Amino acid sequence: LTADAQAVVDEIESEDVDFLRIQFTDILGTVKNVSIPASQVEKAFTEGIYFDGSSIEGFVRIQESDMRLIPDPATFAILPWRTRDDGTAAARLIADVVDTSTGDRFVGDPRHVLRRAIRRAGDMGYTLNAGPEPEFFLFEEDEDGRATTITHDAGGYFDLAPKDLASDIRRDIIYGLESMGFEVEASHHEVAEGQHEIDFKYDDALTTADNIATFRSVVRAIAAEHDTHATFMPKPIAGINGSGMHTHLSLFTEGGENAFHDEDDEFNLSEVAKQFLAGVLEHAPAITAICNPTVNSYKRLVPGYEAPVYIAWSDVNRSALVRKPDSRTPAASRIELRSPDPACNPYLAIAVMLHAGLDGIERGLEAPAPVRENIYEFDEAKREEYGIETLPPNLGRAVDALEEDEVIREALGEHVTSKFVEAKRAEFSEYKTQVSQWELDRYLEKF
Ligand code: GLU
Ligand code: MG
Ligand code: MG
Repeated sequence: LTADAQAVVDEIESEDVDFLRIQFTDILGTVKNVSIPASQVEKAFTEGIYFDGSSIEGFVRIQESDMRLIPDPATFAILPWRTRDDGTAAARLIADVVDTSTGDRFVGDPRHVLRRAIRRAGDMGYTLNAGPEPEFFLFEEDEDGRATTITHDAGGYFDLAPKDLASDIRRDIIYGLESMGFEVEASHHEVAEGQHEIDFKYDDALTTADNIATFRSVVRAIAAEHDTHATFMPKPIAGINGSGMHTHLSLFTEGGENAFHDEDDEFNLSEVAKQFLAGVLEHAPAITAICNPTVNSYKRLVPGYEAPVYIAWSDVNRSALVRKPDSRTPAASRIELRSPDPACNPYLAIAVMLHAGLDGIERGLEAPAPVRENIYEFDEAKREEYGIETLPPNLGRAVDALEEDEVIREALGEHVTSKFVEAKRAEFSEYKTQVSQWELDRYLEKF
């Protein structure tokens, strides 16, 4: 065993952990897990855990289905909501996936796709820091314990209890996250009724992607303990704000300097930062498919609800796709991508953001001037004058953009690209054949 693995084995012993969940995600970002008794953990570290990959969304065909999970000891965490009265606990480990036919990392494992992006950045001398701001709704459950769309409270932005009934739930969620090693920086009631945000500290790309996956399960599990349903669905209710997952990005050099900072620049952004930003803007249509992967995601990306629609950046306003937040210290100079939503696969999303930016650096792309006006209020002529394009208006068009973008296809690799495109085309086709309540209300009696 490696020293890290041994440390996990020791902790399992001292913390009375009896079961371990070994987790990974499928291409669509769903967390999968297999449970093993603690006695099996050494074997899991040395030999891995075999499973049938053909049963996992987007993995492999039946005839080539043997996969092996190799737990990453750095991801060991005790699950706070699974500690039992007798003191025994359950814990989890996140695993990388190995293709047993080749012995190599499996190309369809989203964590592997992200590791490749990280390696490319490393070859260019950079490490990415990513800090997400996931938003979610808390809804009441009905008598059968199913989710409703009745918001749990009627609070608004930054409201305090008693209006913000969820502050107890948020507090328990934060305790849970902290016990799993999260450094929670802030939490508040968001703009919409029943909507919340919990921000945790930025970290390297892989840790942040693992954290987002973990965050979603912790929030759902602890909300459920309070008989509420937490949802990361991007736009559960029409007419009010949806839930985004703004992601703050910066590159650090090997010497630990923030490569995005330049004291002398008007925006405190370095040349490297602007090239990265230009790359993100250029690849924005294609990365939208990954960062906004559901039919519903596009109901959020409309004017008027603090979500981006236009491909532009700004140092002052929130209608742009990329914002340059105020930064007090050189280390804090960063850009904020505002399009991602919390339904995305965090590994793939961070991988495509990173590749898009690195492409901008590699090609020395030039960032356009920032837009300081509220772009929601621009008409088409003005947008044309400023050269502002829009994000894809629906999942179908986003998938088209993904298919047309060589850089992003390569970022995902052929396997993930084709499986993802296939799944999303099917999802969009199915959606197109539906008849919605809106249509019935509008047309049934009129025609
Ligand atoms: N909920 C908004 C969105 O859909 C973001 C609000 C904010 O600025 O935090 O992205
Ligand atoms: Mg927010
Ligand atoms: Mg934000």
